[in-house]
Amino acid sequence: MKFATFAACSEELGATSSRNDMTTLLARLLATAAPDDIAVVCYFTLGDIAPGYSGVTTGIGDRTVAAAIALAAGTTPLSVEAAARETGDYGDAAARLAGAGPAAEPLTVAAVHRGLMDIARAAGPGSAEREVETLAALLSAATPPERRSIVRLATGKMRLGAGDMTLLDALAEAYLGSKDARAPLEHAYNISSDIGLVARTLKSGGLPAVEAISVTLHRPVRPMLTQRVARLSEIPERIGSPAIAVEEKYDGERVQAHKDGDDVTLFSRRLTDVTHQYPDIVRSVQEHVTAGTVILDGEAVAFDHETKTYRPFQTLMRRRRKHRVGEVAREIPATYRAFDLLYMDGASYLRRSYPDRRAALEAVLSPDENISPADRIVTGDLNAITGFYIACIERGLEGIVCKSCADDSFYRAGAREWQWIKWKSDYAPDLADTLDLAVVGANAGRGKRAGTFGSILCAAYNPEEDIFQTVCAVGTGFTDADLADLSRRFAGATVDRQPARVMATPQAAPDFWFVPADVAEVRGLEITESPVHTCNWDPERRRGLALRFPRFVRWRDDRSPEAATTTAEVAAMFRRRRGV
Ligand code: AMP
Repeated sequence: MKFATFAACSEELGATSSRNDMTTLLARLLATAAPDDIAVVCYFTLGDIAPGYSGVTTGIGDRTVAAAIALAAGTTPLSVEAAARETGDYGDAAARLAGAGPAAEPLTVAAVHRGLMDIARAAGPGSAEREVETLAALLSAATPPERRSIVRLATGKMRLGAGDMTLLDALAEAYLGSKDARAPLEHAYNISSDIGLVARTLKSGGLPAVEAISVTLHRPVRPMLTQRVARLSEIPERIGSPAIAVEEKYDGERVQAHKDGDDVTLFSRRLTDVTHQYPDIVRSVQEHVTAGTVILDGEAVAFDHETKTYRPFQTLMRRRRKHRVGEVAREIPATYRAFDLLYMDGASYLRRSYPDRRAALEAVLSPDENISPADRIVTGDLNAITGFYIACIERGLEGIVCKSCADDSFYRAGAREWQWIKWKSDYAPDLADTLDLAVVGANAGRGKRAGTFGSILCAAYNPEEDIFQTVCAVGTGFTDADLADLSRRFAGATVDRQPARVMATPQAAPDFWFVPADVAEVRGLEITESPVHTCNWDPERRRGLALRFPRFVRWRDDRSPEAATTTAEVAAMFRRRRGV
């Protein structure tokens, strides 16, 4: 393809404001590209010269580009800089300054790509001069619009506004008749992360060849992403499988590890090569993964082995550096928590169910303190999920990721679907505020708590009716001193029937009733509808509101029971959390 064709299309794209028009323009461009050019045309359109994960970029600085334009135009770098200041862009400056004029032979896409690759690879003594000369040679042979495109590509400032999905639409339109046929192309892109490869394969082998593109070592798979829900209790219904794997959610960096014998490559969530950043994880993968070839998905975390706690994300990010990597790695060692296996011994595992992939992961990993599968439970019970979540938060983790165990729980590269749902501690901001609740009764303690109370029944105040309506029974969060104090605090408070101003259902009735006098501050996980508790009671639906997983915080002896959180406040919290 002539470079002029690409440059003309870029100028048109730059002037378009409609995504549809953009797709049509690109489809026309791609339809005319030869099999040898089409990958490069795709990279150029995205402003790159190679697939993103390869890390190959020119990214040359202003001084080099000014020197090259000056050399091509027979002027000084200072006057180029002045022109760039005036136009706001070196691309425009290069287009405006006269050059030697186009050569007899028109520039091709392939020739420009070769030149830019030479610049990207230039290293060592004299490389700056070679970069200037190579770029100047391209510019001297170019027309003004071509010069603009070349300079923008060389400086990494192409920005045509077309994203990878626009490009996939255009490929579908050009070769499969309509952008509605994008799905198989998108799938191939999601597992190869290389749009140029998809385009070249489509051009030369058609759709069957694209469908045969598979997972390959050292080429990252676009990571599967998580969905989120407004309420933890929605998770089982959304996932829809009877068994749910509930995994710890680590607050670190997503790392995909490719092991090819002793050769290990690590990719970040954005598909950049981060191998040099984690020499300790490279070693762990080499030594503890028993298969010859494997691709793992997981999280790099900074774990403090002395205190047995996870260190914050910001601490791990101090490892993001080019220099003194080894030294900082010793100071902040990284642990790899693997949660998936995508490939092993020549076979893709993407179309296997999550339980199969997890079993393969456990079989191939001999864990130690620096590398291990993500901790998890498998359950269908919401209470068990919530309990695991609370235990995670108490250990300083960020939350949980719930994963479907259904037969079709495949690894959906690049997709954000309901097979994976995250739940994080900052999702319950309302309940960062605690509730102040009146104590209206208590249950007798058993086992360790025999002789005192096991839980206290708590209620919100309804000022319209001047009654107390129950919200929860609190049995956790008490220190030993609090427990000892409970029997003293409520000695003599017991009355022999349900107090007149207390509304409770028979299911919530406690062993002992109290006339409301004490106020407890309580923190919970979420507010849900409940047939057991009477707060904001709806007589028709026979439902009230309950605080789930309540924990005692402290006594509020400064408050009278009528100063407790009102039932209307609890209802407002419930509505806010549901976004109603
Ligand atoms: P977020 O960054 O909040 O969108 O949450 C999704 C991210 O959580 C993923 O991209 C991973 O980096 C991270 N993560 C931590 N633990 C897990 C896990 N067990 N399963 C999946 N993702 C996890």
